[in-house]
Amino acid sequence: MPAVNTSTDGGRLMTHTADVVIIGGGIVGSSVAYHLTEAGCANVLVIEREERQGMGSTAKSMGGVRAQFATPINIKMSLYSIDLFSRFEEATGHTAGYKAQGYLFVATSERHLDYLKANFQQQKICGVNNVEMVTREDIVRTVPQLIADDVVGGSFCPTDGFVDPYSVMTGFAKRARERGVITWLETEVTGIDVKSGRVAGVQTSRGYVSTHAVVNAAGPWASGVARLAGVDIPVEPLRRQIVKTESFSQLSAKLPMVIDMSSGFHFRPEGTSFLLAWPDPEQTYGFRTDFDYGFIEKILTRAVSRVPQFADVEVNPRRCWAGMYEMTPDHHESSAGLRVSTGCSWRTVSAATE
Ligand SMILES: Cc1cc2nc3c(=O)[nH]c(=O)nc-3n(C[C@H](O)[C@H](O)[C@H](O)COP(=O)(O)OP(=O)(O)OC[C@H]3O[C@@H](n4cnc5c(N)ncnc54)[C@H](O)[C@@H]3O)c2cc1C
Repeated sequence: MPAVNTSTDGGRLMTHTADVVIIGGGIVGSSVAYHLTEAGCANVLVIEREERQGMGSTAKSMGGVRAQFATPINIKMSLYSIDLFSRFEEATGHTAGYKAQGYLFVATSERHLDYLKANFQQQKICGVNNVEMVTREDIVRTVPQLIADDVVGGSFCPTDGFVDPYSVMTGFAKRARERGVITWLETEVTGIDVKSGRVAGVQTSRGYVSTHAVVNAAGPWASGVARLAGVDIPVEPLRRQIVKTESFSQLSAKLPMVIDMSSGFHFRPEGTSFLLAWPDPEQTYGFRTDFDYGFIEKILTRAVSRVPQFADVEVNPRRCWAGMYEMTPDHHESSAGLRVSTGCSWRTVSAATE
């Protein structure tokens, strides 16, 4: 079956048809394209407005992957993903850069510890066999430099860890293309044609594409894309900034992602450097990807209060960056309860019901 059908009129392109049009060629769009081909659907068109794929949030990610979530759907999706990352080269011919160095959540209050315990139970039910609750002593053994006077415990899963998101995207996209998926770069979707409540096609800067299925994989821009079809989805972009240290040998390069639940500060090794992140509660929604140099001092204050060695790091602001999370009002969690940093984003959770 031809990947994307194109009719011509004397050599002039007229219309295109595809079984599925994916809007956005980042890690999500590429994964959807790959998985559609896995399911036998190759008549797929990926439309990306940038000149290269991955210039949105994908290239800005910290690359953390974890099964230590609160809700069954997140846990199960992560289990699936982590298994795929562990055999990604076999599946796609490309490395995921998966490093199983774990995620260590560090609780400093009984409330946070109860939250971790509830998550732990849910994770076990969902089949995360290797997650464990850990004591302060375990935590100090893992990260001897951590100030642990106020630590009451934590949780750890050794198969959580990090991937190279750009590499994952590339693997998915390459294998999808080998199986017939077409990608249009530098092409913007400007309209979604809906007839009698069903998608009939998409208008692009390169012409009209007839299709009955559209996947909105536009990340932080998903709300604007949905509006093209007359649909309101409450996805909002939220800037997140990452500080990358220069080479730093006072902490082990084998450390897991460490999450200080008291402040939300989290960090992980990246080669001989470290990536430091903190979800600044003062950050407001909006399309912003500029890195604010003042953020370095803000985050280092949190970093040093938990790991004093971070007072010695060197930071080159030009090696730091900012990108946008795509946020929903419920943060995909239940409404009431505790606000806990997850190492990816702030999520509102109910410790009792999750
Ligand atoms: C600093 C930071 C750290 C993060 N760390 C983590 C982490 O540790 N772990 C984790 O799981 N997640 C993390 N994330 C979140 C993660 O990066 C995103 O959830 C993910 O990259 C979203 O991928 P995507 O493909 O949906 O979006 P994107 O990569 O943004 O791709 C969307 C694409 O759609 C294209 N597009 C938009 N509108 C149109 C249009 N009209 N026509 C054509 N193309 C269009 C854009 O150009 C873009 O390329 C982090 C995010 C940030 C910013």
